[in-house]
Amino acid sequence: MQVDRADMAEAAAADMAHVLVFPIPAQGHLNSFLHFSTGLLRAGLHVTFLHTVHNLRRLGAAAREAAAASPRLRFLSVPDGLPENDPRDAGGIPRLLEGLHTTGGPAYRDLLASLRRAGGTADGFPPVTCVVADGVMPFAWAIAEELGVPAIAYRTVSACSVLAYLSVPKLIELGELPFPEGGNLDEPIRGVPGMEGFLRRRDLPVQCRSLTDTYQDPLLETVVAATVQSRKARALMLNTTASLERASLAHLAREMRDVFAVGPLHAMSPAPAAATSLWRHDDGCLAWLDGQAERSVVYISLGSLTVISHEQFTEFLHGLVAVGYPFLWVLRPDMLGVSQGAALKEAVAAAGEGRSCVVPWVPQRDVLRHRAVGCFLTHAGWNSTVEGVVEGVPMVCWPFFVDQQINSRFVGAVWRNGLDMKDVCERDVVEGTVRVAMESSEVRRTARSLAEQVERDVGDGGSSALEFKRLVSFIRELSSTSAAEPDLSSE
Ligand code: UDP
Repeated sequence: MQVDRADMAEAAAADMAHVLVFPIPAQGHLNSFLHFSTGLLRAGLHVTFLHTVHNLRRLGAAAREAAAASPRLRFLSVPDGLPENDPRDAGGIPRLLEGLHTTGGPAYRDLLASLRRAGGTADGFPPVTCVVADGVMPFAWAIAEELGVPAIAYRTVSACSVLAYLSVPKLIELGELPFPEGGNLDEPIRGVPGMEGFLRRRDLPVQCRSLTDTYQDPLLETVVAATVQSRKARALMLNTTASLERASLAHLAREMRDVFAVGPLHAMSPAPAAATSLWRHDDGCLAWLDGQAERSVVYISLGSLTVISHEQFTEFLHGLVAVGYPFLWVLRPDMLGVSQGAALKEAVAAAGEGRSCVVPWVPQRDVLRHRAVGCFLTHAGWNSTVEGVVEGVPMVCWPFFVDQQINSRFVGAVWRNGLDMKDVCERDVVEGTVRVAMESSEVRRTARSLAEQVERDVGDGGSSALEFKRLVSFIRELSSTSAAEPDLSSE
């Protein structure tokens, strides 16, 4: 998106608009919110980025450097309510959301009340005039509105998954949920609007599988409740684009006060990756990629939260070795538990000299756009999905949880820029599926044309670029009605 003269005039007028953004402290959400913040800064707004105390400490110098580089950006923090030694892993998400609500919530209330006062802070930032909070934290926008600050919900996942969560009460009413005991997961699902033709039981969030008449999954329950409550927010904002998710967006627009499809944000307002990266990037992998032939490498990353068993790791490894292409594999330190070190050596040895690069974390955008990468074996987290789409890289999806099951269905059955390998990772399946992703000219062509379409969406005059402008105007309008409280502290 180019900043033209009109943008600059608008930016000057917007100077007093100040958005407090509050993501949940998970890697994908942080990245998405930082790209969003970058877009707001470019439009001339002030941004306070609210981290948790734990993450802000973990980010250390990287966050300080990002704030120093941008005088209208600052990072503040509230506690997440978890003990310091809590692993903050996928299994602990309900606990984390609870801690954010019960401990983070009151701290956030106090902070926001002080940031709302004119002169409430010494660093010269104007009062906060609008909150954009993670769409899975309804307490954050409820508190903001109580304090007189208008609030927007930002769901960092796909529109199709938000629509599926919103439809869960209906699915229960229709008897689609809970699934019958031992029922076939390939049965179609009725009741998620617009998806009757291709959505199966196995494409719903994996937590749906554990529901019974007497058991409610806590994570599913929390996310469904938050999705239903987002109807109350001033608007719902999504990191997606009309060309990818037109039908889901149209259905959501009927349910919400307003919907903004402003993505993929990383393609419009790229932010320095290190500023929110909870792991240190291994840049050595780029040098390794430089030495590989064009489109010859399989890139494997299952995101920031997926954990796999040693058996699954072994199946993936044998499949990858059998297909015969060199591979770059992200194995986070907390991904395999105790067998990590041994797994790493095993992978390198199995691939053969120089045929693999196995690292704890990579600069993913740079990897995906590298000429040597031929396909992306991903867990289909939404950020990874749109990053893969933007670079036009064919995907193989092996979803882990939450929205990933439905994203991967869209990749395999709707957009067709990759294959859905959901629920299986036996070595011969990995070998066969990766081979198709690497070698099918049809999949590659589809991935390319999808990338070109999305490039148009985020370019000047494209649907997402226009939506972003509309969102900035909406925020400025909300900001003008959200008058700051006078500072009474010195009276
Ligand atoms: N990522 C990265 N380096 C890695 C693996 C992932 O920078 O080695 C980034 C990736 O680019 C994406 C985010 O981490 O922006 C993961 O978010 P996603 O929504 O894909 O999955 P999650 O981690 O939330 O499951």
